[in-house]
Amino acid sequence: MTTRTEMRATSDRFLADDGVYDLLIIGGGITGAGAARDAARRGLSVCLVDMDDLASGTSSRSSKLVHGGLRYLEQLEFSLVFEAVSERRILMEIAPHLVKPLGFLFPVYASSRRGVFTVNLGMWVYDGLSLFRSPRIHKNLSRKAVAEAEPALNRTGLKGAPLYWDCRTDDARLTLETALDAVDAGAHVLNWSKVVGLLRDEQGRVSGARVRDVLSGDERSVRANAVINATGPWSDRTRALGSSTQKARLRPTKGVHIVVDAERLRVENAVVCFHPEDGRVLFAIPWGPQTYIGTTDTDFSSDPGDVAATEEDVRYLLAASNHYFPESTLTESDVLSTWAGVRPLIGQEDADDESAVSREHEIRVDPDFLITIAGGKLTTYRRMAAEVVDRAANLLMLAGKLPSELREARTDREPLPGAVGWPADDDEAKVVQLVVDAAQGKLSEDICRYLAAIYGTRGADVARRAAVDQRLATRLVPGRPEILAQVDHSVEVELAATARDFFIRRTQIFFRDGDQGLSAVETVAARMRELLGWTEAVETREILAYQEEVARSRRWRHES
Ligand code: FAD
Repeated sequence: MTTRTEMRATSDRFLADDGVYDLLIIGGGITGAGAARDAARRGLSVCLVDMDDLASGTSSRSSKLVHGGLRYLEQLEFSLVFEAVSERRILMEIAPHLVKPLGFLFPVYASSRRGVFTVNLGMWVYDGLSLFRSPRIHKNLSRKAVAEAEPALNRTGLKGAPLYWDCRTDDARLTLETALDAVDAGAHVLNWSKVVGLLRDEQGRVSGARVRDVLSGDERSVRANAVINATGPWSDRTRALGSSTQKARLRPTKGVHIVVDAERLRVENAVVCFHPEDGRVLFAIPWGPQTYIGTTDTDFSSDPGDVAATEEDVRYLLAASNHYFPESTLTESDVLSTWAGVRPLIGQEDADDESAVSREHEIRVDPDFLITIAGGKLTTYRRMAAEVVDRAANLLMLAGKLPSELREARTDREPLPGAVGWPADDDEAKVVQLVVDAAQGKLSEDICRYLAAIYGTRGADVARRAAVDQRLATRLVPGRPEILAQVDHSVEVELAATARDFFIRRTQIFFRDGDQGLSAVETVAARMRELLGWTEAVETREILAYQEEVARSRRWRHES
């Protein structure tokens, strides 16, 4: 068990002993977490820092899909699709509790750009590229079968719809568990730790960073033989810390999702839609008791930390939804919550010898040896991570600083923490039973199912806490499955250090609860105060910070 405070103390001891990490990774999104896991598993000493919480950037604001990218087929990018569907298979194996099959319905209308035959042909290629090991092979639904499968879908002009399979995930928890596995392999992972400057050696090479603890305000130097910049949409800003003459590489765009109650819009599968105004692809995605719709795609050049949905974004998404699901007649008052993320897309203009450019991601080594990785997808993070760690290992080798014995990372075979002890027959009912047994009758069935669904086998650890201390079995919000024991687990095992971490990323209360968890913030903050030894002032600050975060996500409501 490691709290953030203990993790910080471990890292302080390492540095006080004149410690120099093999690798400092800046940015705890999926890319940085993946690199930390890969590097630590190889046996490198690693420090991963994030200025906010793990996954607080784009990696908790995606469409939450682990998918092959059907749209690349149109551009004949077969190798990209092959790579993504291969990764989908691996992630289903190492994180079956987090990466789960999801049906995608692709309705074809009389007005559609492609007919049923062509779309179906594309599906065969898609299944073929996954070597027919998709979660399931696609099938073609007739107009009648579509109406049965998705009663709410607009049937005017409908010809039929192929149903194909990809996966859904919880992006924030996938990132978190990747980072926790890095911790198990020896990495020091420090959230709320911002890089404010880069250190240099006599030759001008980057040799570490000045890191500010955002929660306490103190600063220290973290020395490292190689530094990876995995700051996603912030990566040009991080490069500029080294030299203001670096040319910007990103062309970021904003993507917004809205969440509504499934009672107002129910879909059984993810439904692929094309916006009636501009033809952009969108999804309506089932999310248990909720449905989310996204995404927009607009240029975004401001600070990625300020990104939020606007009224225009929400209206755009509602218009598409009401076109495809006319009877639901969604309005702004149906929107429970929103999220907005910034895609760290690579600008396409130039490429030089120092970079390995692909359509999806880029690894670049600047003249000061700062290694930057940006772009890509959640789905392909594991491969990107291996590639960037290879690049760092090469630099370490050239500098004569590569530790002699490196192990194989085995990131494609070793389970993430919640999948350790996962049943060989993939029977989730057995995982639920583990949780039920651990709860010793203290938790109702819906809570046990929920704990198994989000924590996998580790759900039993959370249930055990509630079994030992009845107070921890209390629901945080009436009618919802989250319980107080999760606060303890998130603080003691999952590095949660603020109420925001708990509500937004360790759980999804922020997005799913009609009140966005505001009614529970005082309870959670009080428990965190007990666990983390906060003063009253810190507790009050944390409550306010959470309330502000909720207000920011609701800003769009007051724009006109
Ligand atoms: P981030 O997650 O943004 O991480 C960067 C981190 O760096 C942040 O946590 C930030 O706090 C930290 N940081 C910044 N500056 C500093 C500093 N100075 N010091 C310390 N830390 C710092 N991909 C898929 O595979 N499937 C999808 O369904 C999908 N949908 C998407 C939908 C949208 C709307 C968007 C925007 C993207 C989507 N993607 C999807 C792409 C995917 O989400 C991103 O490629 C991925 O999350 C990027 O991760 P990252 O780690 O590179 O960046």
